[in-house]
Amino acid sequence: MQVSVDRDRCCSSGLCVMNAPAVFDQDDRDSLVMVRQIVLLPAQFDEVRLAAELCPGRAITVTGDEPARTGA
Ligand code: SF4
Repeated sequence: MQVSVDRDRCCSSGLCVMNAPAVFDQDDRDSLVMVRQIVLLPAQFDEVRLAAELCPGRAITVTGDEPARTGA
């Protein structure tokens, strides 16, 4: 499973960082999301799916071998 983000849709809520701090971070300059880890470990799948579901900007997309879900 892999994760990507659309920074144009990010509204800097920080929810993704709270849900998956090893995967997401926020840019010090503009507070927009940054991906720290593109390829996910199986133990991270659920927290990243949750982050995508809760993202208010629908900015997070997860893809891969597991059934894919997107924030869109
Ligand atoms: S949860 Fe969504 S809107 Fe909030 S910081 Fe993360 S990517 Fe941006």
